[in-house]
Amino acid sequence: MLVELAKFPKKPLDNPLKISYTIPMTKTCTKCQVEKPLGEFYKNKNSKDGLFSQCKNCQNLAKQQWRKNNPEKRAAMRRAYYQKYPEKRAEERRRYRQRYPERKAEERRRWRKNQPAAIYKITNKQTGVFYIGCSTQIKTRWGKHRRELKQDKHRNRLLQEAYNEYGLDAFEFEIIKEYPADTPFEVLEKEETRLILENHSKGVPMYNLSIKINSIDENLLTK
Ligand SMILES: [Zn+2]
Repeated sequence: MLVELAKFPKKPLDNPLKISYTIPMTKTCTKCQVEKPLGEFYKNKNSKDGLFSQCKNCQNLAKQQWRKNNPEKRAAMRRAYYQKYPEKRAEERRRYRQRYPERKAEERRRWRKNQPAAIYKITNKQTGVFYIGCSTQIKTRWGKHRRELKQDKHRNRLLQEAYNEYGLDAFEFEIIKEYPADTPFEVLEKEETRLILENHSKGVPMYNLSIKINSIDENLLTK
């Protein structure tokens, strides 16, 4: 069958595919000098072609290097960022916990283990009466006391009664002697007992009602 030539356009229509040939699909990175697909470059509104002149890889490496060389500046920037967007920090933490549940548990365990040990004092600021205690996990100890007091379940009856009467704000928690994290509990207990006995012998009013007999230093008994 013959085709009428006259019906064909005189000038061939622009081949739409031709257009794509004229748009560059690659670009040479100014840093590594490698010609790469456009997808390998980050977008940049301020440049003519809408892309950065360095490839993603080169930019990422430079960023990494900068972070390595400027740890303080980076920390300050992160702090400023999280101060401005506190919810981002919470979100990031949540995501991290979800992604690495075992890591988070391990961190918490290590944190607990590495806490300093200490002898502490809980003082009723209104009356001056205090409670002496010791703990190998000092950072969480005050919180535990407060929880028990709030629930009216503290095993020290005098302290509980005072709390019920004066309220939490009347009490002050302070560390009076700090020990390394690996200090054995017996060492702390002996010092705690010594302090309790010392105050007791001076007639200082305290909430402590008892001491463990086996925690009394033998040297004290012979004095
Ligand atoms: Zn590059």
